[in-house]
Amino acid sequence: MVVNKHRALSPASYVPADLVQPRVRLAVSGEAALLNSTTAAAAEKMFAAAAADGVTLTLASGYRSFATQTSTYGSYVSSQGQAEADTVSARPGYSEHQTGWSFDIGDGGGACGFQPCFAEQPAAVWARDNAHRFGFVVRYPWMFHAITGYYYEPWHLRFIGPEAATDMKSRGIATLEEYFGLEAAPAYR
Ligand SMILES: [Zn+2]
Repeated sequence: MVVNKHRALSPASYVPADLVQPRVRLAVSGEAALLNSTTAAAAEKMFAAAAADGVTLTLASGYRSFATQTSTYGSYVSSQGQAEADTVSARPGYSEHQTGWSFDIGDGGGACGFQPCFAEQPAAVWARDNAHRFGFVVRYPWMFHAITGYYYEPWHLRFIGPEAATDMKSRGIATLEEYFGLEAAPAYR
């Protein structure tokens, strides 16, 4: 399931059938602490491996329902206008967070959460170098917004399985759009 600005969830109200709360350090509660069961199991392994390397990862935002995305996106539109909102928040029915396959990481209290400077923090550096071993890719890499539709988000990971994630990394393919031969999705149609 690849979701981007050209590929909405279907149905738009999609809810994963197997949402669970992973046993990891949580920076959120409620639905945002949920992932689909496959992603949750992989996250548990990855967070434990990071901890063994002395790096703290926290689950900063996981599943987001259609209703939550409607209100999140709506508040961005209210404060910044739709054009700006579309660069930072997905429209309802277009968020990867609604799939259960994605989540955002934090580092347990640093000031760089969800900020560009997060890219240089140990949590992000560790994830960039190691997440593929657990099946994750940094979904919105640096300088690929013309393909993904989003500027660099070093905190946003997407599960695709260890084989595919490792294959992407070893072949130097940065985006799911390129890896799966899908058209670039810089903006909504
Ligand atoms: Zn995210």
